[in-house]
Amino acid sequence: MAQVYNWQLGREMAYPYAESRPKRQFAAVFNINRCIGCQTCTMACKSTWTFAKGQEDMWWNNVETKPFGGYPQHWDVKLLQQLGPQPGWDARQANGQAPYGGYRGKTIFEAAPPGQAALGYLPEDKEWRFPNIYEDTTNAPVTDTRGNWAAADLPAHRVWFFYLARICNHCTYPACLAACPRKAIYKRPEDGIVLVDQQRCRGYRKCVEACPYKKTLFRHNTRVAEKCVACYPRVEEGMIPRCVAACVGKIRLMGWVDDAKSPVHYLVRQAKVALPLYPQFGLEPNVYYIPPRWVPRPYLQQMFGPGVDAAIQAYTKPSHELLGILQLFGTTQSIIASYTITAAEAVGYDAQGKELVRVPFKDPLYVRSKARLNIT
Ligand code: SF4
Ligand code: SF4
Repeated sequence: MAQVYNWQLGREMAYPYAESRPKRQFAAVFNINRCIGCQTCTMACKSTWTFAKGQEDMWWNNVETKPFGGYPQHWDVKLLQQLGPQPGWDARQANGQAPYGGYRGKTIFEAAPPGQAALGYLPEDKEWRFPNIYEDTTNAPVTDTRGNWAAADLPAHRVWFFYLARICNHCTYPACLAACPRKAIYKRPEDGIVLVDQQRCRGYRKCVEACPYKKTLFRHNTRVAEKCVACYPRVEEGMIPRCVAACVGKIRLMGWVDDAKSPVHYLVRQAKVALPLYPQFGLEPNVYYIPPRWVPRPYLQQMFGPGVDAAIQAYTKPSHELLGILQLFGTTQSIIASYTITAAEAVGYDAQGKELVRVPFKDPLYVRSKARLNIT
């Protein structure tokens, strides 16, 4: 295996291929605090890409209710159990290249059994049933020995759940690509989007086994693998993916994580308010989450890593720049390549510098004239 640098782990790690970063990396931020679990994103994706025969299990975008929901069922718990307890990050090693410090545990590549690219498992067919199982189901309330509810430690709640919207993470180090014996999966050098070449795929399902997020899906009627394509025909035209465009809660922002002008870069690398999903797996995933502030911290830390406390603090008391960028979510169908934040407005621009959208911090207030009031 080659040695590659993973900034989320703050160290080099083993990976089957040499480091080769794309010209720019497709990324998205999902603000969990705003998701209402309406599944509009799920249906926008399905009606665009997977509506034909054999579509029943093809949920390239899904929204699951944590702590119990998952598609396939218990995908994360199963892999965490396989990986076993791992030491976390050493915060003393934190610096610009290693914002969370140095990860001391094993990734799924380093814990792979001999002859395998990554530690993983192939879900049984029954685990792909019920994409929204346990929807709106809370955790079991925590009680003391007398059955009294434990005191809430606000902002965390005693009884909680949250919606985790998921697509392919278009990982910097994809396990699906690493495991494919046909080299049918590739990462585009121009935008980092990860795709399956369906002509080359023979349906061995090695990608399904290796992807820890279980975001490659085997289609039973075509006998080949499919996955989220990041709506690349739209992205090539400067437009955001359908799931981002259709999001009712305006929780999603797509951009380029490695471009300092992008608002996504600001959220991930500067404000550090948006965090990767299970960074300890070692794939450097490129969908980032603003964690839900009402969920107990240990649960969030095992899911989003050591940046949780700082992220929630930044979100709860946002800087003017962060507040401005949060206004830009869900405001345009085009990719916001750069932005400016003034005292009164957040402004988004496309890749050519043309203004796309202008959002005021305060909505204008109109007072109706007395003549138009319907009460006296
Ligand atoms: S999330 Fe899974 S399917 Fe998507 S790039 Fe990463 S390893 Fe591949
Ligand atoms: S459309 Fe947006 S708000 Fe609705 S479930 Fe999807 S991510 Fe959540």
